[in-house]
Amino acid sequence: MRPEPLPLVAYFCMEYGLHEELPIYAGGLGVLAGDYIKSAGDLRLPLVAVGLLWRGGYSHQHIGADGQPIDSDDARDVAHLLKPTLKEVSVTVEGREVRCQIWQVDRSGNAPLYLLEPVNEQDRWMTRRLYGGAEHERVIQEMILGIGGVRALRALGLSPDVYHFNEGHAVFAGLELIADQMAAGKSFETAWAEVRSQIVFTTHTPVEAGNESHPLDLLLGLGANRSVRREDMARLGGEPFNMTVAGLRLASRANAVSDLHGDTAREMWRHVGDTAPIVAITNGVHPGTWQDPRIRLALHGGDLWETHRELKEELLHEVERRTRVRLRPDALLVGFARRAAAYKRSDLILRDPSRIGPWLERGDVQLLFSGKCHPQDEAGRMLVANLVQAVRRYPKSAVFLEDYDLRLGRLLTRGCDIWLNNPRRPLEASGTSGMKAAMNGVLNLSVLDGWWPEGCQHGVNGWQIGDGRSEADARVGDDRDLAALYETLAKDVLPAFGDRAHWSRMMRASIEMAQWGFSSHRMVRDYFYSLYRVPAVGQAMAV
Ligand SMILES: *Cc1c(COP(=O)(O)O)cnc(C)c1O
Repeated sequence: MRPEPLPLVAYFCMEYGLHEELPIYAGGLGVLAGDYIKSAGDLRLPLVAVGLLWRGGYSHQHIGADGQPIDSDDARDVAHLLKPTLKEVSVTVEGREVRCQIWQVDRSGNAPLYLLEPVNEQDRWMTRRLYGGAEHERVIQEMILGIGGVRALRALGLSPDVYHFNEGHAVFAGLELIADQMAAGKSFETAWAEVRSQIVFTTHTPVEAGNESHPLDLLLGLGANRSVRREDMARLGGEPFNMTVAGLRLASRANAVSDLHGDTAREMWRHVGDTAPIVAITNGVHPGTWQDPRIRLALHGGDLWETHRELKEELLHEVERRTRVRLRPDALLVGFARRAAAYKRSDLILRDPSRIGPWLERGDVQLLFSGKCHPQDEAGRMLVANLVQAVRRYPKSAVFLEDYDLRLGRLLTRGCDIWLNNPRRPLEASGTSGMKAAMNGVLNLSVLDGWWPEGCQHGVNGWQIGDGRSEADARVGDDRDLAALYETLAKDVLPAFGDRAHWSRMMRASIEMAQWGFSSHRMVRDYFYSLYRVPAVGQAMAV
């Protein structure tokens, strides 16, 4: 029997983290999408990606003299990274045509990526800043991505078999596909059922606030609903219109991004009827981007410890260049770089000065932090300011690095000794930075959340913090995890760090675990061979 041909997949995402010079990403979601299309390109899988061209980037975030984050545009000259397709589409926003041009990212080594941008200067504000602006602006951005994206594919002569909405931002693409069918005379019901068989949805956040919703009146006023009536809109996304719920109801197959997140997501959306079944496909990271070639070489015959020392020295050099703090190459270096969100608890390790203080003052442990908050998130700004303040108590052994981006992410996840991760379980859906670290032999010290329960062999390739229970009372959970963190650091990590041969063995185990299980090549294949397979019409879906 001949193998079935693979479907052509159209991948939709609000952000893509391909390279620091093209700042159209904010964080984990974008970096994942970037890795995804890189692996699809490496493996020559039939996939095209659609996004928006954010001329003002996301945000440059610096820390002022008062310790508060200060944001500015991240506008760069990206002309050399783009080529025009000479095609245009238009999207009707509030009854007015917004013409958009279609750019193609001019970069080898990834599946084709098309980016939309309004043609007219007076419309350019719509796609100025990624996640910028008020709700009204966000919906317009999502209309351009979803509705404009479907039209762009058509203008380019492509007819995808599968539409993959990576997170809820692209769900208006589903409405556009339904409206097309209705224009051909079908009822909403029939159109929905047909379109549904082509749509795949990935959910990324188990945090309630991370699941966007908008008033139906706003969507109808802007025209996001296309020809779908108000009551049918409510059947898809509820009222207010929840983008994740709509994604789950527009799709026939859906997934979460780790096994544990699969359990959490199924539980979280159980009360919502008529959703696609949610399976788990664990994220992965792109080896060519995230694994240092010297580590790959050392794994096959070099000296892992010496190679690691070299990478650590490069990181320390960069830290000194940026902050004038010279950290010690022979003392344990613990890295922590995350978006500022309360559940990630970036300051946890600093919360008991009587425990962490002596280690930092003696120089047995050194801490390196980084991470941005969303510019309009007041709580996030406070978290960054508090972390910066806590770090300043230990000027010789704790450092906060400003403006976390792909470049800094690369340096950190190959140059630290330990990669710390202490979210409130089970709120971290995946946590891909830990995979990048593991792939370079930077050992994970992490709560059993996100991907880590699938990767962790305690004491062999990294360490777990605590016993993997979740705690409803945040304060109780914080105290318990903090005690477990200090205990593991004292009893396991520091002694292991004193034994080079042992540490090198753990590095090897970590690298092998990550290469085998947490590469984006494995991830993309999983999507193609399970989630993207188009069910035959009339056949029950076996998931
Ligand atoms: C990998 C990466 C992330 C996502 O990592 P998490 O572990 O989910 O926090 C975010 N930002 C940058 C710059 C990254 O490289």
